[in-house]
Amino acid sequence: MKILVVEDEPAIVYMLRYNLEKQGYQVIDTEKGGDVIELATAQKPDLILLDWRLADNVDGVDVCYALRKNQRLHQIPIIMLTARAQDGDKVKALGTGADDYMTKPFSIVELLARIKAVLRRAAPMAAGETLKFADLDMDMAQCKVFRSGKPIHLGPTEFRLLHFFMRHPRKVFGRDELLSQVWGDNIHVEDRTVDVHIRRLRRSLGDPDIIRTVRKTGYALDDSAG
Ligand code: CA
Repeated sequence: MKILVVEDEPAIVYMLRYNLEKQGYQVIDTEKGGDVIELATAQKPDLILLDWRLADNVDGVDVCYALRKNQRLHQIPIIMLTARAQDGDKVKALGTGADDYMTKPFSIVELLARIKAVLRRAAPMAAGETLKFADLDMDMAQCKVFRSGKPIHLGPTEFRLLHFFMRHPRKVFGRDELLSQVWGDNIHVEDRTVDVHIRRLRRSLGDPDIIRTVRKTGYALDDSAG
């Protein structure tokens, strides 16, 4: 996942980059609001962290409006960073199209949690996205899955599970991580639930098995599994 940081305070950029990269995100940054459209078009970030007041005096709110009006960029989730509590209220009141906002100084732990939440909400809606892995195709616009061209019927949880795997193919995920990524941090389900849904997903996808079980670790989408 790639995050575009639009921020003119070097110390905050440094802190964000350090923490986001530690979490496995790829980070690109700019201090200028005027660069955002071009940069986002070229780099296709999965999320934008957008400061309110920027180096070139372009307002973060105007950048937000411009992103929402742009045909190719309008679906990218935006979290606004504001310097004062009142600015946060304004973001809310203005209906800028930002998905969330945080007031400085913010807790990095909370920001990371919000980033995760916003990405999770946005992911299934990414219009027109088609994910491919081995002989699997996932058409996000139609919410349909095909294996070797044949439609596969999945329940909503299996769909989200497969979507998550297809976004991170061959990577092994533990049950805890799958729970937090697919079910959400606030929902209380047992580890065993993951196994149940993995079993259902496997059954629906058929042979050859495309989900690899890594003993004592977790699961991965892997075409060498079967
Ligand atoms: Ca600023």
